[in-house]
Amino acid sequence: MQKNTPNAPLVLVGAGHAHLVTLRQWATKGFSAPAGSLLINPDPHAWYSGMMPGLIAGRFQPEQCRIPLASLCAASGLELVCAAVSSITADNSALELADGQRIAFDTLSLNSGAKAPVLFEHDQSLALIGAKPFPHFIRQWQQWLTTPPRQLAIVGAGAAGFELAMALRISLPGTQIDLFSSGTLLASHPPRLARLASNRLRKAQITLHEHSPIDRITSGQLYVKQQPVLQPQAVILATGTAAPDWQQHSGLNCDTEGFIRIDSHLRSLDHDNIFASGDCASLPQTPHSGVYAVRQGSVLADNLIAHLQGSPLGSFQPQSKALALLSCADGRALLSYGPLASEGKLAGRFKDWLDLRFMQQQRLT
Ligand SMILES: Cc1cc2nc3c(=O)[nH]c(=O)nc-3n(C[C@H](O)[C@H](O)[C@H](O)COP(=O)(O)OP(=O)(O)OC[C@H]3O[C@@H](n4cnc5c(N)ncnc54)[C@H](O)[C@@H]3O)c2cc1C
Repeated sequence: MQKNTPNAPLVLVGAGHAHLVTLRQWATKGFSAPAGSLLINPDPHAWYSGMMPGLIAGRFQPEQCRIPLASLCAASGLELVCAAVSSITADNSALELADGQRIAFDTLSLNSGAKAPVLFEHDQSLALIGAKPFPHFIRQWQQWLTTPPRQLAIVGAGAAGFELAMALRISLPGTQIDLFSSGTLLASHPPRLARLASNRLRKAQITLHEHSPIDRITSGQLYVKQQPVLQPQAVILATGTAAPDWQQHSGLNCDTEGFIRIDSHLRSLDHDNIFASGDCASLPQTPHSGVYAVRQGSVLADNLIAHLQGSPLGSFQPQSKALALLSCADGRALLSYGPLASEGKLAGRFKDWLDLRFMQQQRLT
């Protein structure tokens, strides 16, 4: 790409789940984006979170868990720019990349995910490894395969924390794994699912610390309620979603946590030419999860075309409840839907089938 990039008619930021579905849908329809349109993403692949635990447990290869972006972009006439956006000035319809390059846009769509919040003070004496971005996490995990840590702490006992703990148990059999929750395990799921998950953790010899908020990390020591509890080699953050600082300073209407407020058309509340979807966005009744990001993708694909053509936009209706399938990393899965919960190999096979089918659908060949 030239250093002085001219105005781009359409810029997609982040190859999240929603943009992946958008690009695939455009390729199927034969839609070609206006000349000069871009997809900006740090990595040349889009990684699928649903298969990350299986990758770490050795059940999948990296190629099965990611989609190459260059060919997908080319199919819809977009240029792939492997870079990270560092700021957006919504009022000027401009953004800046981490290397300082400025890009002006007519229409922008953000699907750049979220980072794990650090909810405690720390003196940087221990490596804090976010569950995302996945390429970074995978590089760290590959180093652990060569030099296994004696002890790992995972902070956050939601679905991602549980799945990572179970997957790392298989991958690093000699490592002691401790899972910390400020409240209870899988608090947003039915109590029966939490009980099943708790049994799984116990059988896997993973120590669960409930009602144990980490206050601080000092000199390599984790403190809970001011008491020293653990001296692990590294800390994995599976603490949910936090918005990057640049969203808050973008001039876009954001909620109190910095997530971009959008309407049912997946469009910014105060900038008609800016769309946002997935974890970077804030929409009532829409949790931050891959399931909802994927569903938004198909509405976004149509709405971006409609916006470019000046046609009416469609609406995204969040489903009231979603099927949750949590990998136990050994081929089994925990399943919940509304108040129902179960576990077993059948649920595991169903999850594998759904995940592999999703990836098959996103590939061009
Ligand atoms: C281990 C784990 C397992 C999970 N399993 C599931 C599951 O089974 N089901 C489920 O529903 N949810 C799951 N989740 C949650 C799920 O990953 C997220 O909710 C989902 O990925 C959000 O998708 P998204 O479309 O918002 O963007 P993401 O998938 O987060 O992708 C964002 C993209 O934007 C890029 N990006 C980030 N910052 C920038 C920037 N500044 N400039 C340009 N590009 C940028 C990133 O590199 C990435 O490619 C899991 C999460 C984890 C951590």
